[in-house]
Amino acid sequence: MKANCWYGKNDLRVEQVSDPEILNPRDAIIKITSTAICGSDLHLYDGFIPAMEKGDILGHEFMGEVVDVGHAVKNLKIGDRVVVPFPISCGACFFCRKHQYSLCENSNPNAVMAEKLWGHSPAGIFGYSHLVGGYAGGQAEYARVPFADVGPLKIANGFSDEQVLFLSDIFPTAYMAAEACDIQAGDTVAVWGCGPVGQLTIKSAYLLGAERVIAIDRVPERLRMAREQGGAHTLDYEEVDVYDALMNMTGGRGPDACIDAVGMEAHGHGIQYAYDHAKQAAMLETDRPIVLREAIMACRNGGTVSVPGVYGGFVDKFPIGSVMNRSLTIKTGQTHVHRYMQPLLEKVRNGEIDPSFIVTHQMRLEDAPAGYEMFKHKNDECIKVVLKP
Ligand code: NAD
Ligand code: ZN
Ligand code: ZN
Repeated sequence: MKANCWYGKNDLRVEQVSDPEILNPRDAIIKITSTAICGSDLHLYDGFIPAMEKGDILGHEFMGEVVDVGHAVKNLKIGDRVVVPFPISCGACFFCRKHQYSLCENSNPNAVMAEKLWGHSPAGIFGYSHLVGGYAGGQAEYARVPFADVGPLKIANGFSDEQVLFLSDIFPTAYMAAEACDIQAGDTVAVWGCGPVGQLTIKSAYLLGAERVIAIDRVPERLRMAREQGGAHTLDYEEVDVYDALMNMTGGRGPDACIDAVGMEAHGHGIQYAYDHAKQAAMLETDRPIVLREAIMACRNGGTVSVPGVYGGFVDKFPIGSVMNRSLTIKTGQTHVHRYMQPLLEKVRNGEIDPSFIVTHQMRLEDAPAGYEMFKHKNDECIKVVLKP
């Protein structure tokens, strides 16, 4: 089959690789119909996440048709149409029973490597670093899905792929980020980043009852989408001082909640990254974690800073004094996608939201490297790329 493979920083190749096979009775094989490029993939493309290996198949946002199932998978049959959540979760361990699926204890075969960098190991993730299992991803014609009796969500006809594909990651991610803010009537929520995650975070904050959302970016068409589709007030961080503007808009008190939907690519960061293969240890440093710091500093006393944006290792100049003295709450995490898939599908079904509005480009799998370049540089008004294997 064909697959989009990682070969290093800014080096992706669509290659012929062997087809996946059932390795475990709880596996399924999915023939992929749609697979998206995520901001998290850009962190791999930029070389910010350690423990990638040449030839790794990328992609963690995918859906398609079941073409084979292991004998222990009783809930799926050949021909079913499914969306696959990006964390790989057994459904039965200590964390899965708490519905903290991205912390599953049974899906990361490289747990020891993760423990060295992070202290403990999270769940496995498709198409990501070997810190989280090194599983082959879904930017391919087929993928093997472990624990297929737990993760994949069956989708009835009547929805386009683009309406349901983002249940695999970014719609639940946006929703969990907004839900973490415990939004009350009258609240103002500020969202840094108007990428795909930011756009769906704006929608989710309103769905959860925010009075006003203020969205921050510099890319004109992303700011426009935030205003026109999301109903947000927008700030261009290249034109205004974000902190001052937010204070002006909130009577000097600050937003009730601040959401960092940018992560490591924050424009203006001086990220330095080094990975010591001998020690299997990684260092990721930036002296200017602009968005994270801005979100903390701007947040009103007693408010919540929610961080769906991905960070890989260490950031310096983290203002813990501001967090402590002003009783802030910080919430973050890889998303517990399984928890949100069915309830958010209901919101798509009943017309509360149609997440497909973010899709600006559909491309062939063969064109994945060009798609990454375009998405990274925000060329051609690109907001979200969906690949069609
Ligand atoms: P994206 O790169 O398309 O969006 C990031 C946006 O931030 C861009 O529009 C960029 O212009 C903007 N930006 C850059 N610097 C900024 C600054 N200083 N202030 C304000 N805006 C700034 O990516 P995306 O797909 O929307 O993903 C966003 C983040 O969410 C990434 O870090 C990604 O890894 C993360 N993510 C996390 C999870 C999770 O489970 N927690 C899941 C999916 C994605
Ligand atoms: Zn993603
Ligand atoms: Zn588990």
